Amino acid sequence: MNVSSRPVLLPGATLGVLGGGQLGRMFVHAAQRMGYFTAVLDPDAASPAGRVSHRHIHADYLDTKGLAELARVADAITTEFENVPAQALDQLAGHRSVAPGGQAVAIAQDRIREKAHFTRCGVPCAPHAVIETPEQLRAVPASLFPGILKTARLGYDGKGQATVHSAAELVSAWDGMNRVPCVLEQRLPLAFECSVVVARGADGHTVHLPPQRNLHRDGILAVTEVFDGVLSPERAAQATEAAHAIAQGLGYVGVLCVEFFVLEDGSLVVNEMAPRPHNSGHWSLDASDISQFELQVRTLAGLPLVAPRQHSPAIMLNLLGDIWWREGAQLPVEPDWAAVLALPGSHLHLYGKTDARRARKMGHLNVTGASVPAVRDTALRACALLGIAPF
Ligand code: ADP
Ligand code: MG
Repeated sequence: MNVSSRPVLLPGATLGVLGGGQLGRMFVHAAQRMGYFTAVLDPDAASPAGRVSHRHIHADYLDTKGLAELARVADAITTEFENVPAQALDQLAGHRSVAPGGQAVAIAQDRIREKAHFTRCGVPCAPHAVIETPEQLRAVPASLFPGILKTARLGYDGKGQATVHSAAELVSAWDGMNRVPCVLEQRLPLAFECSVVVARGADGHTVHLPPQRNLHRDGILAVTEVFDGVLSPERAAQATEAAHAIAQGLGYVGVLCVEFFVLEDGSLVVNEMAPRPHNSGHWSLDASDISQFELQVRTLAGLPLVAPRQHSPAIMLNLLGDIWWREGAQLPVEPDWAAVLALPGSHLHLYGKTDARRARKMGHLNVTGASVPAVRDTALRACALLGIAPF
């Protein structure tokens, strides 16, 4: 059912979410704070969102009985999991309002369709070639080397990617990916990365969080910084306008995060989008009067969207499982949270995951403060305490 054809859902209604990870957990927290009931569909009994939701339906994303139960108990349904099958959203949309829609999610799930969408919206992306057949592989222009071969679907946190320097390396990399549909992107000289979170209502009204500057390590987001000056005003305006155009071009309803590269020559190139709140927007939980998760609740419930106001400079540090593993240790050691929380302006978010594996997102630390130097200083102290490399 189209969201615009539904009445506003007031607190007391039940909001459903497909997927039980940390993004679902923070959505559940935001919804509950505003007086909504929540239902989570996720197969894992110990999922971060399932554990805090009023209801947890233990079922797979394609389990028709589980989906039917979600549609029965929830008045509107969103997703937190990028790779949720679009057909699951379509099944639900026959019964309930669903945002974002399956069509937009399907585009965001497929780098080939995603890049075509960016181009349609007039936002430049990296020079690239689509590789679905051996003929397309052979026709790749030399100008794309060195390049990054990315699977069209199911990649995340740098997985499903390989750097290739020549046609021969491309052939073996594609073989290594079982010849699934891919894009080969020219490897660009990045100055830094940034992203913009927008929220678009069914009436087309769109608001955004300020652009975020992101530092990735090993393909995973490590640090996000948000304050005046992380981007030049021109670049910030360009990124924000591009994110609005991309959401509008999709007829999008919900929260969308668009990731960009800023190249060494200062130009802006869109990288990818996520049809949901994003790791780089987590700072908004503590430094914005409306968080990205509240925006998700508002778009799903059909509530008014007002422009969020950032009230503090912010730095977010991702807390990966690595910090549980001290050099030489045989067993994981819980980080010294008390020491971190002794730092003024530090806000700890842990996702309730028990198994601290390397590269696993266990939580994040938001740092706020009265000035940018104060926030930087606190964030660097937290890094030292936690064994995170300074930035
Ligand atoms: P994922 O879905 O894993 O986040 P991305 O396409 O965002 O995949 O790639 C992960 C990271 O790899 C990016 O954040 C960026 O640091 C680097 N990267 C990706 N594509 C390029 C490119 N064309 N040129 C340079 N660096 C890139
Ligand atoms: Mg990315």
